[in-house]
Amino acid sequence: MNPSPLLEKINTFRREWGERLLILGHHYQTSEVVACCDAVGDSLELSRLAAQSKAERIIFCGVRFMAETADILIRDANGNANGRSVWQPAPTAGCPMADMADGASLEAAWQTLQAIDPTTPLTPVVYVNSNAEVKAVCGKHGGSTCTSGNGHRVVKHFLNQGHRILFAPDQHLCTNIMRELGYPTSAVALWRRELPNGGLTAEQVLQARLIAWDGCCPIHASYTTGDIQVARLAHPDAELLIHPEAPSAVAALADHTGSTKGIIDTIQRADPDRTFIVGTEEHLVERLKRTAGKTIFSLRPILCTDMGLTTLEQILSVFETWDETCHVVVPHDLVADARISVERMLAL
Ligand code: SF4
Repeated sequence: MNPSPLLEKINTFRREWGERLLILGHHYQTSEVVACCDAVGDSLELSRLAAQSKAERIIFCGVRFMAETADILIRDANGNANGRSVWQPAPTAGCPMADMADGASLEAAWQTLQAIDPTTPLTPVVYVNSNAEVKAVCGKHGGSTCTSGNGHRVVKHFLNQGHRILFAPDQHLCTNIMRELGYPTSAVALWRRELPNGGLTAEQVLQARLIAWDGCCPIHASYTTGDIQVARLAHPDAELLIHPEAPSAVAALADHTGSTKGIIDTIQRADPDRTFIVGTEEHLVERLKRTAGKTIFSLRPILCTDMGLTTLEQILSVFETWDETCHVVVPHDLVADARISVERMLAL
């Protein structure tokens, strides 16, 4: 099939810019957007590519926190971008889960919880799906970001050192991680943002190994145990893979809980005659159905509206105008601490 006129125009700009430009796209982008990206990946892969890239300009097809992470990683030790920049074609594309935690609230929670048990280090672990100010609080208190792919490793690293963890913003990701690491449910206490002291007694804090912020991805958290039952009945021989942002009671019924990359790798490595039910964002599931060469069913189609906001028109418009509203700049005073938290993850 011939490329669309829009894609041809974008590709003309890409050829003109050559290696001075890198277009990154998340797996949840539409297929037409993916077609004009230099690299497609999950949050961790794209963070690494942004960190390694020498490109002058990065166009990030994804949501705000991803473009912010790229901007944090292209800065030097003094927080300067040295002529490099990150651009988000859909500047209104945010992440409802990231917006469930802000820096001031996380700092207040950390102060409250650390005061309850001053002798046990309270280390923040922050999902990369968070805003820059939240990453900065995490870095300031010796913590690390994590992704759905490396969350087990990061959480285990700090627990093995005897630390207590304050995990934000996704309660389901950390609950799934703790379950898979073999901890009982009593090892996790839920911090409820709207309640004084997060609704926790000192005794509950002292008993917990991990305090979970009460945020969630509204898209993945919408899966229910009923969805699993319906899919199992319809496809009894299929293997069920689900993203760990799904509620723990649901994820526990799957055959495997896997990050975006983990789900893709499992399907790609499988024999051609295998059948899968996949529980994650539908743009990715649809693409897997078309390209993976396996029989794949959606657990239930779920779409992230924000991820779907980026269009070819907007990408072309960035090339034509370099409009400042698409230029993503993390405030200078947040960069150093935020960078510490992301670099600690990349080093672990
Ligand atoms: S799928 Fe969920 S976590 Fe990912 S960008 Fe959308 S709302 Fe945020």
